[in-house]
Formats: sequence, C-alpha cells, structure tokens
Amino acid sequence: MEWFDDPGEDQIEAIARLMHLPAELLGLSIGGGWSRCTVTLETPETSDSLRDDAMWFCAGEPVQVLLRVERHWFDVAQARIGWSGQLPQLYPVDLVRRERRDDVEEDLAWLERETLGAAKRSQERFAFCRFCRTIAAPEQLFRADPPVCHGCGSRYFGAVY
Ligand SMILES: [Zn+2]
Repeated sequence: MEWFDDPGEDQIEAIARLMHLPAELLGLSIGGGWSRCTVTLETPETSDSLRDDAMWFCAGEPVQVLLRVERHWFDVAQARIGWSGQLPQLYPVDLVRRERRDDVEEDLAWLERETLGAAKRSQERFAFCRFCRTIAAPEQLFRADPPVCHGCGSRYFGAVY
C-alpha cells in the first residue's frame, strides 16, 4: 500500500531509538511488523497538536494499529482507510495519548495495553473475502455480506473504482 515507506522492514528498532527505550522491551510491549506511514488528519481544526514532525508507524495488514512517536508524547490509534481518488489514505481514529513519564515500565505497560486494545478492536471489524479469502477492512470491501473485497468486486462484478 502507498502509505508504507518500506513494508518489508520492521521499524521496531527505529521506534525504540526515537522513544529512547530498549528495543527488546519495546518489542515485548508493542509487538513487531511496524512500518513508517503517512496519515491524513481528518479534522485539521482539532489536530493542531498533531501538526508537527512526529513520526507515525502502522502495523498489521490491513492496518490494525497506528503509533505516533515524538519526544514527550505517545499516541495510539486505530486506522480507517479512505480514498483520495485511487490513492488510499490512513486516518487515525479513537486516538489515545500519553505524556511520557520517567517510569519506563509504566510507559511500556500503557503502550502494550493500548496497542493491543486498538489491534483487537480493528481485528473485530475485519472480514474475509468470500472469493479470494483474504482479510479486509470494511472500507476495503466492495460488498459487506457476504464480504467481497475491492479486487474481487472488479474481477467478478466489473466494479470500477
Ligand atoms: Zn477478494
């Protein structure tokens, strides 16, 4: 997907460096499979605090969880997929934020709880396409019941996007 910088390489080490946390402990807390990503902030008027050079990372395919890292704050969110023409966009939703403390264990416990929670809520939304049997977010479905993904919507029903 276009929002990934390099989907092949897990960025957990980079995230750990940005957070000044040991990569091994961070991996135990938030898991692996992280990629740099670009997100679209849906409501610019309410997201002033997010408009800086903080980095966003995503994990899962479809994306299950977003993590925003900056010096003093962590943010965890679920993702929704939107479309700008043919280009998919990632929108953070249900964002939760934590100011960094001096207590690394507390930070890691918070990150674990929130990333697991966001991933679980995302997984509960996903469905398997009845034709290709791959998993998709509801926004990636041509039809919801029974689920048909966009690709199979084109292939079997001639849908044009
Ligand atoms: Zn399909």
